[in-house]
Amino acid sequence: MPETGVDGRTSPTPLRVPEPTVERLSTYLQFLYSAAASGLTTISSAHVESATAVSAAQFRKDLSYFGEFGKPGVGYVISELQGRISRILQLHETQPVILIGLGNLGAALLSYPGLTEQRFEVVAAFDIDPKKCGRTVQGVPVYALSDLLTECARLNPRIAILAVPGLAAQQTFDLAYQTGIRAILNFAPAVLKVPAGVTVRNVSFTQELAVLSYHIKTDQLDS
Ligand code: ATP
Repeated sequence: MPETGVDGRTSPTPLRVPEPTVERLSTYLQFLYSAAASGLTTISSAHVESATAVSAAQFRKDLSYFGEFGKPGVGYVISELQGRISRILQLHETQPVILIGLGNLGAALLSYPGLTEQRFEVVAAFDIDPKKCGRTVQGVPVYALSDLLTECARLNPRIAILAVPGLAAQQTFDLAYQTGIRAILNFAPAVLKVPAGVTVRNVSFTQELAVLSYHIKTDQLDS
């Protein structure tokens, strides 16, 4: 159903962008960074196909959700494409992020330089262990979990990284939700129950390793 704009004219309903397309945009951005670093100023969809596992047709289709890209005979100007994909992913401005759970994994995440390189700024960390609070780790202040609502009202983070034990995951998500956060990167080994409008990306190293382990066994049976 077409939407009616303020000027009374109709515009086509924006297509719902499939999640795999959004995932691939980040792959394209990485590729564009490395292409620019190697001295290229333009690329073609064939370049994308040879450097990533994505076909040229899929690349063009993914971009088509967001308008017109590239010029016939020229291809895609890298700086322009980088700028547009960054805007689509909202990576053109710094994204304030909070970390909940400063154990071994949380601490490792804070020391990962890739976060700031991609303009994700961890503005605060929270923990229930009083020994961990009141300090600064990798330049990030660590607060008691009981300060979450107050600090988030001040810092206005959009994304929370959960690195707490599985049993604490739902409770910490519920608290983060109260602050207005609607995007969660969940490292906790737990399935979160979340209201509509919340996006959760689960990361489980052990689950990934289990899949690899299964394939090793299957490969051995095949050979
Ligand atoms: P450590 O031994 O330093 O606690 P760890 O990686 O073994 O590290 P985990 O048991 O996985 O720790 O817990 C991760 C972190 O989450 C810890 O720092 C812990 O204090 C914190 N944590 C546990 N429960 C909660 C909670 N409900 N809210 C916030 N942080 C929590």
